[in-house]
Formats: sequence, C-alpha cells, structure tokens
Amino acid sequence: MIYLDNASSAPVNPKALAAAMPFLTENFANPSSVHTPGRAASAALDKAREQCAAALGTLPEEIFFTSGGTESDNMAVFSALGINGRRKIITSAIEHPAVLNACAELSRRGFDVVRIMPDGDGIVRSEYVAAAIDDKTAMVSVMTANNEIGTLQPIAEIGALCRERGVYFHTDAVQAVGSIPLDMRKLPVDMLSVSAHKIGGIKGAGLLYVRKGSPVLPLIVGGGQERGIRSGTENVAAIAALGAAIADITADITRRAEKITRLRNLLIERLEMIPNSRLNGSRTLRICSNVNFSFGNIDGEALVMSLDLMGVCVSTASACSAGKQRRSHVLTALGLSENWLDGTVRLTLSENNTEKDILAAADIIAECTARQRSG
Ligand code: PLP
Repeated sequence: MIYLDNASSAPVNPKALAAAMPFLTENFANPSSVHTPGRAASAALDKAREQCAAALGTLPEEIFFTSGGTESDNMAVFSALGINGRRKIITSAIEHPAVLNACAELSRRGFDVVRIMPDGDGIVRSEYVAAAIDDKTAMVSVMTANNEIGTLQPIAEIGALCRERGVYFHTDAVQAVGSIPLDMRKLPVDMLSVSAHKIGGIKGAGLLYVRKGSPVLPLIVGGGQERGIRSGTENVAAIAALGAAIADITADITRRAEKITRLRNLLIERLEMIPNSRLNGSRTLRICSNVNFSFGNIDGEALVMSLDLMGVCVSTASACSAGKQRRSHVLTALGLSENWLDGTVRLTLSENNTEKDILAAADIIAECTARQRSG
C-alpha cells in the first residue's frame, strides 16, 4: 500500500505509542486520584504539557488538552462570546469546518461573521483582514496552513495587525505543526489549535494554546480538570502520546521538511506530465507535505476509488468532505471551474514515503486518469 493521506491521519509514531502504553495497561488510574498510580498518571500529563510547551515555545500553563482539533477550534471561536461589547468575528472562507461551523453558530447568536476570500493562490491576504477589522471585532481566526491545498497563511502579519488593533487572534495550526516551526515567543498569536492524530499521536487528543491573559471560555464544564477550562477525565494515554509525538516531530523539523519537500516536488513534477492537469494553491507558500491536483474531465471520487483498488490511498478534498459528494468550499473559493472542481485529489505525504512510492503512485495516477478518460 502507498499511503498518501497523511493529512487525514498520520501513522502513529512508535515513540508516541510507547509513551501511551503504560496508561492503557498497568497504570489505568485516574490522574485526579491522590494515590501513587493516580499521581503517576498526573505526572504523565505534566510531562506531556511540558513537551507541548517546549515544542511551541509556550509556558506549560498556557497548554489546555482537548479531544482534538475540532474541540480546540470550537473552544477558541466560542471564547469570542466572552469579549464584552464586541460582536464581530473575522475568519476566512477556506477554514476547516470546525472553525466555519463554530462561526456559523456565533452568527445564529447575533454575531457579525466576516469570511475573507483568499486570492487565486489560496492565500488570505493580511490587507483584506486589516480592512475588515473595526472596533466591534472581538477575534480573528485564520488557519496557519490549509488542510486541502496546504497553503501557508501570513499569520505573523495577521497576528501583528490584530495586536495593533486590540483584537484577539486564533489560528488553527492542525496541518502546520511539524511542517514549519511555530514559536509562540515570536509569533503574535493568542490561541492556537493542534490535533494529535495529524502528527503521529492518537485520535481523540489535541490542545489549545491560550496566551496568558487571553480570554478563554470552557466548552465543557464538570469536575474542573485543565484548571477549570476543560472538564472531564483526561485521556492520559493519548495525551502522553501527543507529548511524545510533538516533541519528536518538532525536534528535527528542518531535516524532515527537506526530505518531504523533495518528495512533494517530485510528485508535482510527475503529475504535471499528465495532460489537462493543474496544481491547486500556491507553489511556494505551502506546507511540505501537500499536493492538491485537479484533472480535467475526471471524476475525482471515481479516481480515488480506482487508486484504492491499485493500492494507493488518497482523498478527494479532505477526509471530512470526502464521501459526502460535496464540492470543496476551499477550491470553490479559489474560483476553480466545475470541471476542475470535480476532478480533484489531495495527496499528503509523510516521512515514511519513499521516492519509489512517489514514482509508483504518479504512474498509477497517470494510468487511472488515462483509463477513465478513454472509458
Ligand atoms: N483543523 C484542520 C485544519 C484539520 O485538518 C482538522 C482535521 O482534519 C481539524 C481541524 C479537526 O481535527 P480533529 O480531527 O482532531 O478533530
């Protein structure tokens, strides 16, 4: 099998699995319990928090563990409700549904929601955001890297202008962690979402970074875990795995990104040889692992299925819209015509892919598109 769907879920890192195992076997205790195994579980949460903080350049107390990227995004966006007197949120038209649908809920609760359109390369330009900010704006939420087309957004610029205008800035960095360095000591970001299963951790864990002093509201109330911000018994095994995964993926980010970039460029080069094809999203401002291609006169869903039969795993747009037969809101926002929209596949790489995989996958894609076009 050639797995090119790492943006949907990446393989579990063996170090993350090893970090999780004790809490699925001999130490099943609740981290709130005061006995010895309970304290050991609690110490594992402390260790993971320190690993996440070190990886992101934050204080440990600025890390709140959640059930994943969706919850982190929801928690950040709904925190706009706590900013008194301000009832406007600015986001982009190409956010993940976890942000877009949270914003839609704010709209139902009386918020003015502005969705900034990207340019044709899939970049949300900071000047468009600047023009939308006014004194009613509570928060701006623009992702660090897009999950469908991998485009990197100018979050340093957007964060700086938010800070200038006294507006909180959230960024969904689910697809960016491990691809680019993210240092909260340098970036003017107030809140940042991370998901474990995209970076070698286990599904069902994530974190929200909240800069000290930024307003954050709990989505889930109960026993007061995570300093009252996220109640519910912690997913100790998955959190321990998240700590190990983020430490590992950020430790040698340059070497890793260079390796994956080389494979990605090779894949782009090969797919461009297929007639009537196009790369979607900026060629340069994109994470190392993403290739998003459209093929004219091709049914993308059928292509994904025929590739699966040939042992190549890819998605159409993203795992969440795949299978729903809905056109991608991201590619639509880029202004793609229907012919391109319907013939799109997303191929996302990891360090586990080899040059041999990439060349074989490109040949199989060429064969499947030719077969579909002639049939
Ligand atoms: N944000 C982005 C950019 C994503 O790609 C995803 C997952 O596809 C999410 C949020 C949701 O993360 P999770 O699956 O951990 O809820």
